Amino acid sequence: MTGTVYKSTGSWYTVKTQDGNVYECRIKGKFRIQGIKSTNPVSVGDVVDFKLETKNDQETGVIEHIHERRNYIIRKSVNLSKQTHIIAANIDMVFLLITLNNPPTFTAFIDRFLVTAEAYGIRAVLLFNKIDTYNEEELLEIKYLAALYRDIGYECIGVSAKTGKNIDKVKTLMEDKVCMFSGHSGVGKSTLVNLIEPNLSLKTAAISEQHQQGQHTTTFAEMFDLSIGAKIIDTPGIKGFGVVDMDKEEIGDYFPEFFALKAQCKFNNCLHINEPKCAVKLALDDGEVAWSRYKSYLQILEGDEEHYRKNNYDE
Ligand code: GDP
Ligand code: ZN
Repeated sequence: MTGTVYKSTGSWYTVKTQDGNVYECRIKGKFRIQGIKSTNPVSVGDVVDFKLETKNDQETGVIEHIHERRNYIIRKSVNLSKQTHIIAANIDMVFLLITLNNPPTFTAFIDRFLVTAEAYGIRAVLLFNKIDTYNEEELLEIKYLAALYRDIGYECIGVSAKTGKNIDKVKTLMEDKVCMFSGHSGVGKSTLVNLIEPNLSLKTAAISEQHQQGQHTTTFAEMFDLSIGAKIIDTPGIKGFGVVDMDKEEIGDYFPEFFALKAQCKFNNCLHINEPKCAVKLALDDGEVAWSRYKSYLQILEGDEEHYRKNNYDE
């Protein structure tokens, strides 16, 4: 039988088949997935093959095979072991909620998030939430930001989880997709999801700041079916996307507008810093590449993760 993992508690996995039946499954023996050393061999979102066993009149499953993942997101534990935990797999779309204030979302945070989404191979959509609260000047700023990111190729929608404005557009995008919602605490993730599916409350927000610093908390994601035909992955205690290891050379490739120019740089391994005849720097001087994006790029390149975590990232 084949199904999708909706929940895991470490030793048991809740697997749902296409026809909607739910089975509690285990894995037997050691399981190794190609190339990844993680604390959990199976994660939420995985598609697995399993066989049924009957013990004491209880029917449970034994997972025998994991289908190849289209993508997966990880969390590195902050303790010394630096172990990798796979949070979720096979995600179609991630929505980043952005607010100008209460709380502020800085472009450095947005860009870091987008780079990670690109690296993971997950489509990111930007939702500018709380548009019901902004004055004219703030609305202009939202317009500016939306135009900036739209030009790069990201879908941007101004929404209000309070008034329901443009939520239909979000729902349409979500149809038949496995989705995640991210953004700083307080941007409106739970309010938005509640509006889309009134009886579902996200733990993402509930498990809060006390887990922030230092300590390793094993977080178990969970997947839910929504009545609009979408699936949502709730990731308790994780508000961002984590930090992925990237080589310096590949970071620029995750800025789509830089990547598009790269072929025109004099050097094919151009880092777009001080190299002569760099197409990205030229575009920056011409105003075709945004300074905020370039600044974010340099920050990521410098690998100032600690600074970044402290200031922008309430992971
Ligand atoms: P989360 O931490 O991202 O889940 O954020 P919440 O959903 O808990 O929202 C934080 C606060 O913002 C709550 O008081 C919400 O009522 C409020 N809020 C969320 N979305 C909107 C919105 O679109 N407009 C307004 N005015 N308030 C909102
Ligand atoms: Zn260059």
